[in-house]
Amino acid sequence: TAFQVIMNKIEMGHELTKDDIVVLLNTEEPKEIETLYSVADRLRKEIVGDIVEIRGAIEFSNYCKKSCNYCGIRKGCDLPHRYRMDEDEIMEAVHQLVEMGIRTVILQSGEDDYYDTEMLCGLLKKIKKVTKMGITLSIGERSRFDYLLLREAGANNFLLKIETTNRKIFESIHPDNDYDQRIQCAKWLKELGYVNGSGNMIGLPGQKIEDIAEDILYFKEMGIHMIGIGPFIPAPGTPYEDLPTGSVEMTLKAIAVTRIVCKNVFLPATTALASIDPDGQRKALEVGANTIMLISTPEKYRTSYQLYKNKNMIDIESALEAVKNSNRKLPKYLKLPNKEGIQ
Ligand code: SAM
Ligand code: SF4
Repeated sequence: TAFQVIMNKIEMGHELTKDDIVVLLNTEEPKEIETLYSVADRLRKEIVGDIVEIRGAIEFSNYCKKSCNYCGIRKGCDLPHRYRMDEDEIMEAVHQLVEMGIRTVILQSGEDDYYDTEMLCGLLKKIKKVTKMGITLSIGERSRFDYLLLREAGANNFLLKIETTNRKIFESIHPDNDYDQRIQCAKWLKELGYVNGSGNMIGLPGQKIEDIAEDILYFKEMGIHMIGIGPFIPAPGTPYEDLPTGSVEMTLKAIAVTRIVCKNVFLPATTALASIDPDGQRKALEVGANTIMLISTPEKYRTSYQLYKNKNMIDIESALEAVKNSNRKLPKYLKLPNKEGIQ
C-alpha cells in the first residue's frame, strides 16, 4: 500500500514529499495510525532522547493592538480585565521558576507597544544577570532592529508562529497582518541567530490536509527549531466563537509527521491540545513531542489570559503526571518536591 511504501522510505532515511505527508495525515486506519505514532516515537527517542524539557511561560500582558480573528485577547474583545505585569512582578515569577530549577523562561504577551524595546531590553538584561536563564520571547511582530536589540540584550529564542502557510487563510484570519511580512520576520529572527520558533493551528476555517502538509515542509525548509502545533479552539467573543474545534487526532498526526520530517527539533505538547483533551500532553509525548510549557503566570492574571475557551492552566503536577505516564525522564537539574519515582 501507499502507506507501507512511505514507511519504507522513512526507514531508508529518504525525504518525504508533500504527497507522502498527505497520505500519512489522511490515514484513518487504526493500524496505520498506530504505526505512524510508533515510528515517530522511536525517532524522537533516537534523535532527542527520553528527557522532557520543562519550560515556564509568563504571560506578562494581555493587551494587544491586533485583532486576529481566532484570539480571545484580540483588541476587539471586550475583556473584563486587561493587565500588564511590571518588572518586579515578572522578576518574581522568574525567580519562582529558578527555584524549581527551570532553565528556560518564555515571556509571552499580546502585541503591546507599552513595553517598548528599551524597556524589554532592560528586563532581559536583568533576567540574564541574575538567573542566566535561556529566554524565549513570544511578543509578535517587531522591526528587524528591535529583534536585533532584544537578541543582544539576552533573548535567545523567539516564538512567532506562522499559524498557517496558506496565504489566503493567513490573510482571512489576520485582519492586521501581511503574510510576506510574517515570513520576513521569521527570516530576520533566523539571521539574527535566534533559536527560531514557529508553529501552526490545526482546524482553521478552510484549512485542508494539504495545507498542514505544506506547513510541515515550511518548518523544515526554514530550519525551524521549535514547533508548536495545537488545535484551533474557538474563543468566546471572537468572530470565530461558533466554529468547530480542531481535531485531537489530526493534531497528534501532525506532531508525529513533524517529528519524522523535521527530526532534531523541540516539539511541545501544547497547552491548546491539553485544553481539549485532559490526556493530551501524554498523548503528544508519545507521538514525538519532547517539551512541556508550564503556565507560570501569577494566579491573579491567569484567567485574564484566556486565548480560547477552557484554556488548561498546565501546572507542574499535570506535567509530572504526563511525563510519568509516558515513561519519560525529567532533566536532572529540576528541583521538584516529588521527583522520586519519576527519574
Ligand atoms: N501575540 C503574540 C503572537 O501572536 O505571536 C504571542 C501571543 S499569541 C496569544 C500566542 C499563540 O496563541 C498564537 O501563536 C496562536 O497560535 C495561539 N492562539 C491564539 N488564539 C488561539 C485559539 N483560539 N486557538 C488555538 N490557539 C490560539
Ligand atoms: Fe494579539 Fe497574538 Fe492574539 Fe493576534 S494572536 S490578537 S497578535 S495576542
